[in-house]
Amino acid sequence: MNKDVLEFIAEYKLDPQHFFDANGQTLTSDVKEQMRNEEKIFAFNTTACNKGHHIKSRSGHCIVCEPKNIHFTLINFNEGFVYIAASIKGSVIKIGSTNNIEKREKYLNEKKGYGNFNDWKILHYLKCPKMGYHEDNIQRTLERYREKDIPYYIGTELKYSNEMFRISYQKAYSTFEEYFTGKNFQSKQIERDLSKYKFMNLPK
Ligand SMILES: [Zn+2]
Repeated sequence: MNKDVLEFIAEYKLDPQHFFDANGQTLTSDVKEQMRNEEKIFAFNTTACNKGHHIKSRSGHCIVCEPKNIHFTLINFNEGFVYIAASIKGSVIKIGSTNNIEKREKYLNEKKGYGNFNDWKILHYLKCPKMGYHEDNIQRTLERYREKDIPYYIGTELKYSNEMFRISYQKAYSTFEEYFTGKNFQSKQIERDLSKYKFMNLPK
């Protein structure tokens, strides 16, 4: 690590262990995969941003230009809840994470709702360390059912949803069971009737 990187780490009180040496490479999906495997959150020696910085979050954003991405990225590595929500209107499942499970359902249904649906119900959740890490892994397991870049509005702000999946609750639930098997994380099944949310599994 050069002086600039060390100063940056010190300034934001970050953990050097979370940094990956990109060796001048672009953060391709292969490099990101390697970072995930090594549990690295940030990369240094990356290709330069527009302003010539070489420090990025794993999602590929320059964290020198936009330090708010540091906070956003780190929250994902905190303890929190990974959940399954369902919208009957959309016949879709959402896999998400939050540090406030009590308020999450309300937020999902605010304004016109997440992904244009406002009848979300959280059906199951699990408390775990590094919630963003587990959320990401589960979503990637279900990648071929993912609805990508669906535009929706929260008030006047245009957003894109990437966390909706064309699967049944049964499938989401069994994916969680399988993924978290042997890990003793506290979980809560709010909806026990799997048949209520028998949506079609529609791979791309
Ligand atoms: Zn930059």
